Amino acid sequence: LPERYGAGEKSVWVEYIQLAAEYKPAVNLGQGFPDYHAPKHVTEALSQIATSENPLLHQYTRGFGLPRLVENLSKVYSPLIGRQIDAFNEILVTSGAYEALYSTILGHVDTGDEVIIIEPYFDCYDFMVKCAGGVPRFIALKPKPQGDDISSADWVLDEAELASLFNNRTKMIIVNTPHNPLGKVFTQRELELIADLCKKHNVLCLSDEVYEWMVYEPKQHIRIASFPGMWERTITVGSAGKTFSVTGWKIGWAYGPADLMRNLQVVHQNCVYTCCTPVEEAVARSFEYELARRDSPDCYFYSLARELRPKRDYLMKILKENGFKPTLPEAGYFVVADWTDLEKKIDLSSELDKYKDYKFTKKFAKEAGVLAIPPSAFYSEAHKHLGETFARFCFIKKDENLELTENLLKEWN
Ligand code: PMP
Ligand code: GLN
Repeated sequence: LPERYGAGEKSVWVEYIQLAAEYKPAVNLGQGFPDYHAPKHVTEALSQIATSENPLLHQYTRGFGLPRLVENLSKVYSPLIGRQIDAFNEILVTSGAYEALYSTILGHVDTGDEVIIIEPYFDCYDFMVKCAGGVPRFIALKPKPQGDDISSADWVLDEAELASLFNNRTKMIIVNTPHNPLGKVFTQRELELIADLCKKHNVLCLSDEVYEWMVYEPKQHIRIASFPGMWERTITVGSAGKTFSVTGWKIGWAYGPADLMRNLQVVHQNCVYTCCTPVEEAVARSFEYELARRDSPDCYFYSLARELRPKRDYLMKILKENGFKPTLPEAGYFVVADWTDLEKKIDLSSELDKYKDYKFTKKFAKEAGVLAIPPSAFYSEAHKHLGETFARFCFIKKDENLELTENLLKEWN
């Protein structure tokens, strides 16, 4: 294995999906995906396309994105960013948000370039930066000392520490808002600080916004690309899997100014070249459907968060009643919970992993029948201890599976 790939360990996803198959936990609250049906108009669109006699719907489409899809993405985002986004030069359709991240990082980061990554982080950022020959520089969000009720807004950056990471080798900062795994929605003030540092040091901003539609009122998602002087230096990433609750469809996108998008196109055209045509067409039709009811509360962009909120509150209650200290997420569909108080109840000595959260999540899955993700996977080697007393639970699950979680945790306790 080339040295730049590190030791080539299994990613947390590969390992925990395998564990789910091995342990067969009664409920899997690990990997983030819904265990119920996506909106009907979304799956019906794909089914109609699948049997369509239009031969072109089953052949290669435009490499940088099906015209109907990029046109709809422009319609969705132009009003949100406050400028007319050029569908054909400022948007790239990718194989999931993963490939949008990959094309952005590989398309811009050169050997020795530094990239600032905020911990905890979606684990592939680190790998992709190293793969491009770059040097990740990490800064951790830290929980402010609080009483028992902590929210993702209490996880903050040290401003002086952030400023100290910017220098003349810094190429990019990766911002993930709303945040996986904490559910933090970065505030106007936090994003302004990041934007000012980017402008001062001529740094690009990669903004991963795949959870943009799952924000709980009164919080609001803020797009850093809409800030003065930031369009020119920001690439924003989104996901159809997250937007329409179809994570298996693996269509994503990146948008930004044409000169920066050109570098993504170079990567994309030589590895993926073009994404799945029928699925792009179905995502385009799904956006058209939602755009037609954009001002209605029924629009999925708003109804999804309304539907998820009681699930979030229910999972919070279950975790609190069973000895965890969960952080209330302002967005997304994960809860990160501290399990320190349960340590006395669980014997971790049989688990051989290096980090305690891996031991805990494995033993807990075997004993309680509930699988969660170990958050140390979202920290760099030197900071993994910061994630070790936590576990991440996903709540975009059928109510009956959340009820089952409640019963299993009660029994275990
Ligand atoms: N970024 C973040 C923060 C994620 O949680 C995920 C997982 N959905 C992705 C990117 C990748 O998204 P996709 O499934 O569209 O590749
Ligand atoms: N984004 C999802 C999560 O955080 C899935 C990630 C993956 O499967 N690689 O759980």
